[in-house]
Amino acid sequence: MDRKRFKKLVEKCLDAISEWRAQSPPFEEEGALKLSFGKVEKEFSKYFERLIRAYPFHSPFYAAQMMKPPHPVAVLAYFTALNINPNNHALDGGPSTSAMEVESVSQIARMFGFSNFTGHLTSGGTVANLEALFISRSLHPDKLIAYSDLCHYTHPRLCHLLNTPSLSIRTDGCGRLDLNDLEVKLRRERIGTVVVTLGTTGLGAWDPLDEIVRLRERYGFRIHIDAAYGGFFRLLAERREPVVSPEPFKSIKYCDSIVVDPHKHGLQPYGCGCVLFTEPEKVVPFYKHDSPYTYFTSRDLHLGEISLECSRAGAAAAALWLTLRCFPLKPNTGLGAILFKTRCAALKFAQLANKTEDLEMVVQPELDIVAYFPRPQTESEKRASWVSEMSERLFKYSMEEGKPRLYLAKMRIKPPLLSDRYAKTFWDVPEVTVLRSVLMKPEHFTYIRQIHSQLLKNLTELRRKPSE
Ligand SMILES: *Cc1c(COP(=O)(O)O)cnc(C)c1O
Repeated sequence: MDRKRFKKLVEKCLDAISEWRAQSPPFEEEGALKLSFGKVEKEFSKYFERLIRAYPFHSPFYAAQMMKPPHPVAVLAYFTALNINPNNHALDGGPSTSAMEVESVSQIARMFGFSNFTGHLTSGGTVANLEALFISRSLHPDKLIAYSDLCHYTHPRLCHLLNTPSLSIRTDGCGRLDLNDLEVKLRRERIGTVVVTLGTTGLGAWDPLDEIVRLRERYGFRIHIDAAYGGFFRLLAERREPVVSPEPFKSIKYCDSIVVDPHKHGLQPYGCGCVLFTEPEKVVPFYKHDSPYTYFTSRDLHLGEISLECSRAGAAAAALWLTLRCFPLKPNTGLGAILFKTRCAALKFAQLANKTEDLEMVVQPELDIVAYFPRPQTESEKRASWVSEMSERLFKYSMEEGKPRLYLAKMRIKPPLLSDRYAKTFWDVPEVTVLRSVLMKPEHFTYIRQIHSQLLKNLTELRRKPSE
């Protein structure tokens, strides 16, 4: 964004806040809150120094974890609302931001194809999943919750927290929930809910939702979708050339609940998850509670009445609302155009890696996350320990000074991943460390050739250097 105009906009935001304050009768500022501006400036300069010791999350050469700064419009909308600090618990605390939350959540629900739904924002994906599993347990107190081996690590913990028995379903060589194993366990156990991940955190893999929907007809269970990372890729399924497998995404409308994180692929700052349920009449009664201090100013629904959390940032809803005005949930423009780029970055990276002798993909990417490792070239290199060591070295070397720096992430994986290509003798250690890049910025697409060739260059240099 144009820096000058952005600064002007910041001023306008401050003016809007002054206008809000001026609407109420004037009063004198409390002395105890006053600070000398000199002191403030001094403390801030120390603060800047501390703060900017961070990895360059905004840069395409940061191709590591699920990290990127929010869009400037989200930052400004958040900052402006923060001056009012509305609380979306009750309409008393955030009348306008509650309306913004309802509108934003409805847009997300429409994207998924829901007509009858209830839902709200949360402080993140973990709490959103907690709410969904809380409802699952409430509906089926005596049944198990099933999730895949590669689901987000918080699911087993949430089940523990909810004191609900749970079990894990095997995954296949693509990192997807194994349907055969699921069916075996559906026959044997009393499973009340299956957690289906669309976009696993590690590999960006999706579980075969369309087939799981078919299994539900035979066995009857709830389907909860964890699409904290992958949910917005639903938009791409509507494109003429979808670039993602459309089937699992188009089957989302058949689920019972779903979680998506606007603070991951929705350009938002942290503190913005979302949970949706498709049968409000079944779900809402479990949220029933009485709050003696709130819910007074209106008979309309207060969002706190359908949420486990009490206080929630109205600023988060405001930021999402404004962002969705600027980047609507459309397949070819708005947010869809951004996701298209990130997806193409991953496709391009895989294509480049598949063509060369140097890098090998763990799986072909399904979304915009790539997992890869230095390709073993001799028989003696075909060992998990060699791959781990080279991945560690490439990870470290790529971040060192003295050349264009690349920031990567690491991940540990185990069979059945890679077992289609590597025999039992490969596994001299139980797990192998590989590299992982979350290509979640549209600029990744522009720079993906450069990123790939820098990786090859680093790898060639490393192969010439003896290991320390
Ligand atoms: C990130 C993520 C979560 C956890 O969400 P937070 O917002 O970090 O709490 C859960 N599931 C999946 C698939 C994720 O990618």
